[in-house]
Amino acid sequence: MAEDCLFCKIIKGEIPSAKVYEDEEIFAFKDINPQAPVHIVIIPKKHIESLSGAEINDAEVLGRLQLAAAKIAAQLGGLENGYRLVNNCGHDAGQTVFHIHYHLLGGRILGWPPG
Ligand code: 5GP
Ligand code: ZN
Repeated sequence: MAEDCLFCKIIKGEIPSAKVYEDEEIFAFKDINPQAPVHIVIIPKKHIESLSGAEINDAEVLGRLQLAAAKIAAQLGGLENGYRLVNNCGHDAGQTVFHIHYHLLGGRILGWPPG
């Protein structure tokens, strides 16, 4: 946990969120500013700043994040026809919260390439 991290505060319940999934290592909640009809943020409970900051001991939790995304996608309505899992890593990719996270997006046709 990092003291001044928004997502660590969401995990601890200090900032409210619309939780959709939680297990021992992972937490997921609805994005406050959704970019698609379904937009979920999936995070590890361990504070890792970004994908670039991940280490070999984080390999398991990174895999678990992806598997959690698939599980959440199967449980939520509206993603039967597909979805996208996105990680913004660093400033140029648009990362604004420096606690690693995946965006699970869907419920509409998603354009490619992304903006
Ligand atoms: P990034 O831009 O770092 O890839 O993604 C951060 C995401 O967190 C953004 O999509 C933003 O809307 C979301 N977000 C930022 N603050 C909050 C908050 O307080 N609550 C929730 N639910 N989402 C947030
Ligand atoms: Zn954090």
